[in-house]
Amino acid sequence: MRIPQLEKYKNYDFGRCPRVYCCGQPCLPVGQSDIPRSNTVKIYRPKCEEIYYPQSKHQGNIDGAYFGTTFPRLFLMTYGHLKPQKPSQSYTQRVFGFKLHKP
Ligand SMILES: [Zn+2]
Repeated sequence: MRIPQLEKYKNYDFGRCPRVYCCGQPCLPVGQSDIPRSNTVKIYRPKCEEIYYPQSKHQGNIDGAYFGTTFPRLFLMTYGHLKPQKPSQSYTQRVFGFKLHKP
């Protein structure tokens, strides 16, 4: 793993979790597979521990195997002080203040 990833993390290169109780937690890239060209990169939200499709088109084209499936775990092991605490409050899922209803 190369150090510049830390700078990217600090610059929110991979976005921030939009959830209120995650308090702008920076996200990390993750692959769903370590086999090249099998999947594009996904976004891992370290605080709620969920994986999402990237919002940017550019990131949507990055090969997930470039980071691999273990990247967020290794990153947070290396930089343990950046590891987020679990949200202490429970919450209903809201988008811009509105309750999000599943279709
Ligand atoms: Zn979150």
